[in-house]
Amino acid sequence: MFQDNYAPQKGTFTFTMIKPGEENQDYVGEILTMIHEAGFRIQAMKMVRLRTKQAEMFYRHLSDQPFYQDVVKYMTSGPVIAAVLEKENAVVDYRKLIGATDPTKAEEGTIRKRFAKSTDRNVVHGSDSDDNAAEEASFFFSFSERYNKDGHCFFGWGK
Ligand code: GDP
Ligand code: MG
Repeated sequence: MFQDNYAPQKGTFTFTMIKPGEENQDYVGEILTMIHEAGFRIQAMKMVRLRTKQAEMFYRHLSDQPFYQDVVKYMTSGPVIAAVLEKENAVVDYRKLIGATDPTKAEEGTIRKRFAKSTDRNVVHGSDSDDNAAEEASFFFSFSERYNKDGHCFFGWGK
């Protein structure tokens, strides 16, 4: 009876964070409006402050970059707003909505173009593949904290 409710299907969601900082708090409402108007449904959301080890783990793909420790320091400097967003083609469409990593290269109408002042403070995170979306969403949320469109949580067992 819970057939379509065991686990979220890869490819139907992405993971995002609104990054820390007082300036970003000013944009939360407008960012969520842009997300909503682009057709994403919120599957899960919470505010959480990462510990250093967690940020190091989350950004481990950057560990050989000179700016790695800066990223970790910034991402642990205050709470982030973490969310799982559901939509067909979610990962690709959300990367389009947030725009390029460097906001000066981001297209008009994107979140980073509108709100970000620099690459190291580019306001939002968005997963870059379906596999990473699944991993990153699971880093922050259990299946039982994620809700399908009928308002039921995913159970994470049965498949
Ligand atoms: P994203 O997927 O567009 O967020 O970009 P990446 O996954 O390549 O990098 C993760 C985050 O590291 C970016 O969002 C930036 O905040 C930061 N970052 C990336 N490149 C640079 C850089 O050249 N300098 C600094 N200071 N930060 C960077
Ligand atoms: Mg990335």
